[in-house]
Amino acid sequence: MAEADLPQGLPQSLCLTGRRALVTGGSRGIGRSIALMLAARGATVAVNYNASEGPAAEVCEQIRAAGGTAIAVGFDVGDAEAAEAGIKRVVEELGGLEILVNNAGISIDALLLRARGEDLQSILRTNVEGTFTCCKIAARQLLKARDKGRIINLSSVVGEQGNTGQSMYSASKAAVLGLTKSLAQELASRGVTVNAVSPGFIETDMTAASLAGAARDALLAKIPLRRVGAPDEVAEAVAFLASPAASYITGHVLRVNGGLAT
Ligand code: NAP
Repeated sequence: MAEADLPQGLPQSLCLTGRRALVTGGSRGIGRSIALMLAARGATVAVNYNASEGPAAEVCEQIRAAGGTAIAVGFDVGDAEAAEAGIKRVVEELGGLEILVNNAGISIDALLLRARGEDLQSILRTNVEGTFTCCKIAARQLLKARDKGRIINLSSVVGEQGNTGQSMYSASKAAVLGLTKSLAQELASRGVTVNAVSPGFIETDMTAASLAGAARDALLAKIPLRRVGAPDEVAEAVAFLASPAASYITGHVLRVNGGLAT
């Protein structure tokens, strides 16, 4: 690639020019930062949303205003038929797909004795089935991309070490780690890498309640870096794993948690 094609100041090994990416749940929070960062690194980005059509359109507008290319694609990742149609549209409109970021996720917190079966089902449907389904549907395109093919799944520190009141969410995020490590082995022979990013506590809508008031101070005391993370700090890790610089990394869990997990 000619120097002039590189996003300004970016080493070629981090550059995503010519790569096409789908970010599930790219309308808000961490997914929004990931979509913007992949675009800033040169990728063409499909921004998936479920309910937040307006915010997804705004993310695309921001990417276009900066000279990039983006489309918004609405589908519920837990609905296999909708995901199939949505990813088909992404491939048709972008002409292919090299990078899949499974970021869409929900959290419903409850202590075990108050936990409801329907909440467990909702969490598993979005966080586990959604991730699995998108991997399965996108796999054919990613395999065609060979060593440019990348899957990056969002797990969580809670999936690694558990948390009181989060048994359902923790189980779903632990499942994402098992899925990631198995697919890394399965797709490696074709050059496709599969990794997980495991954030700690990041300031988004998802954590707004748990990061308020006294609970915030108690949490900060447990984090060695003594602060919560920003969505961009997670996006940096995802963009790295999507880049040529990470070509020999697969089956890895990259923690972005301020030192929280031991
Ligand atoms: P968030 O602010 O609540 O945003 C969630 C995103 O997921 C939204 O864009 C939402 O889109 C999308 N989404 C939810 N259900 C969906 C579905 N069924 N189909 C398609 N999109 C769906 O959450 P976040 O904090 O950014 O979290 C993003 C990911 O990081 C999640 O997987 C989460 O588990 C993980 N994570 C977060 C933290 C944290 O501290 N925030 C820590 C560890 C891991 P719509 O609004 O369009 O529905």
